[in-house]
Amino acid sequence: MKKLGFGLMRLPLIDEKSKEVNIEKFKELVDYYMSKGYNYFDTAHTYLNGNSEKSIKEVLVSRYPRDSFYLASKLPIFNLEKEEDMEKIFNEQLDRCGVKYFDYYMLHNLSTKHYQKCINFNAFNFIEKMKNEGKIKHIGISCHDSPDFLDEILEQHPEIEFVQLQINYLDWNDKIIQSKGIYEVSCKYNKPIIIMEGLKGGALANLPEKAKNIIQEYDRDNSIVSWSFRYNLSLNNILVILSGMNKMEDLIENINIFESFSPLNKNDYSMLNKVSKSITDDIEIKCTGCEYCINHCSQLIDIPKFFNLYNSQKLLDQSHSIGMYYRNYITKNNKKASDCIKCGKCIDYCPQKINIPKELEKVVKVFE
Ligand code: SF4
Ligand code: SF4
Repeated sequence: MKKLGFGLMRLPLIDEKSKEVNIEKFKELVDYYMSKGYNYFDTAHTYLNGNSEKSIKEVLVSRYPRDSFYLASKLPIFNLEKEEDMEKIFNEQLDRCGVKYFDYYMLHNLSTKHYQKCINFNAFNFIEKMKNEGKIKHIGISCHDSPDFLDEILEQHPEIEFVQLQINYLDWNDKIIQSKGIYEVSCKYNKPIIIMEGLKGGALANLPEKAKNIIQEYDRDNSIVSWSFRYNLSLNNILVILSGMNKMEDLIENINIFESFSPLNKNDYSMLNKVSKSITDDIEIKCTGCEYCINHCSQLIDIPKFFNLYNSQKLLDQSHSIGMYYRNYITKNNKKASDCIKCGKCIDYCPQKINIPKELEKVVKVFE
């Protein structure tokens, strides 16, 4: 399989509010992508309020032979209320997409918080059963959690065939995202990796001026975006790298980068380290992600994760994708920054002396 995957979370839209997809524009993108020999598509039940799955039926499934493309989707375990919902949603997904099987199917955003629900609902057994019935070719998970959590899952569930993870050069050593750690765990279990957020929701295409200058002083011939893709393409064990491409110029540029790929050398890595450092040096809330505060918060607010998202948003100006991640995933069934009751108990435990409740107000203002 060619390694540029078509992510279907951000598609050309007719209407931002209703998330209605611009089918004609989407067709042009798919036709060009397929004509160049690329054929991996990644959707999910939740993307674009369900319009992502519906539009792939119209644009791809009804126009191309089923064996000419790979289609991946995901079970929104975080949205389900009872065990029977799994089969109901799964059948709805097959129907929406107009297919009899998914090539790749994942438990969506598996995390510490939802793992117990997966156990209670027998979610791993369910996807395995669908595989045995020929309705899924390969079963996997998408995960934004820690290396330790991923290790536990892969040890307990050898039936999982692949993982979808957030990996990019800025998050490689990030204390919250821990791309390096989750990559190494996946390699330890020899699980092929599908990379998501390789451009950090588009943020690595729009770097702050200082970071951009470091790249351009080093090399003016290659685009800013190419460094992110080359970084990920230089890793081993990668099945496919997703990119949400809703403009023809982005699609053409991405394909050119993948076609002319050459692995990074030592100097390239050192330049990208400087870029990451320049970005992280400028962060607004100096939270190190130590988590000392968390155990002392009666409201169970995930303080470091919220600060990490806020910093990314401020630095990289990507309100759309980061805000969506905040609202749709990490706070959907959990506490939000606005649940802070300003008791101040956490402050004494923060080695960085951050006024946590005050900084959480900024998170509320930006994301809620
Ligand atoms: S001030 Fe807010 S974040 Fe800190 S412990 Fe109290 S409720 Fe939790
Ligand atoms: S204690 Fe301070 S530095 Fe550590 S995670 Fe909490 S806010 Fe961040």
